[in-house]
Amino acid sequence: MSRVLVVEDEQHLAEGLRFNLEAEGYQVQLVDTGEAALEKLTAESPAFDVVILDVMLPGIDGFGVVSQMRESGQFVPTLILTARGYPDDVLRGFAAGADDYLAKPFDLSILIARIRGLLRRREWLRAAPAVPAGSPAEPDGSKHVFTFGDKSVHFDLLELHVREQVFPLTLMEANVLRYLIEHEGQRVSRKAMLAKVWGLHEDTDTRAIDNFIVRLRRYIEDDPTRPRHLLTVRGVGYRFVASPAGSG
Ligand code: CA
Repeated sequence: MSRVLVVEDEQHLAEGLRFNLEAEGYQVQLVDTGEAALEKLTAESPAFDVVILDVMLPGIDGFGVVSQMRESGQFVPTLILTARGYPDDVLRGFAAGADDYLAKPFDLSILIARIRGLLRRREWLRAAPAVPAGSPAEPDGSKHVFTFGDKSVHFDLLELHVREQVFPLTLMEANVLRYLIEHEGQRVSRKAMLAKVWGLHEDTDTRAIDNFIVRLRRYIEDDPTRPRHLLTVRGVGYRFVASPAGSG
């Protein structure tokens, strides 16, 4: 049974979410502050599978919660509930490390579909091979690992290994990276990434993608200001290159 943590200070909405998510077969815990959420996430075992996180909370807000989660190594898929009409909140949420968002007020059926999507994408990352067609076989025989140069992406662990360093990836960071790797050498547009990775939220500013790219470059590029793997294609989007020309 999947475990959902709902962080929502409007009691009526929180109780409604619990009732409906339990009816869908989820195990639900409610908290009404960000501080309580961070405590629960640290203390609770087994871990939660999904966090539904309101942005407007008393005390620390949803952005603060998700960024503290990520900094402390909590990479549970997190959907933020933003106020409609504040597109900047979506960008801030993704920049802070959120995996998905929904604008309030929302349809319950859409929230449930999004929760399923987050759970499914996590399974997809664990289950499916990440190696593009035509790539040489991985030395360790693993389908979950994509190696380029001295870096390797472990999709099953949501980790990026760069020499001795290990960077944990959020679900969405891994999804973005995986999509780019699957299209190695090809141009991919921001809109295509939004559609394929997020499942097309047509009201999302495509700059949301750029936040992920900036983060991924910090991990995988030796000099993030002069990227060699994650290239910008002006006016289109991005291109992933596993072995840049001239690299040893
Ligand atoms: Ca609120």
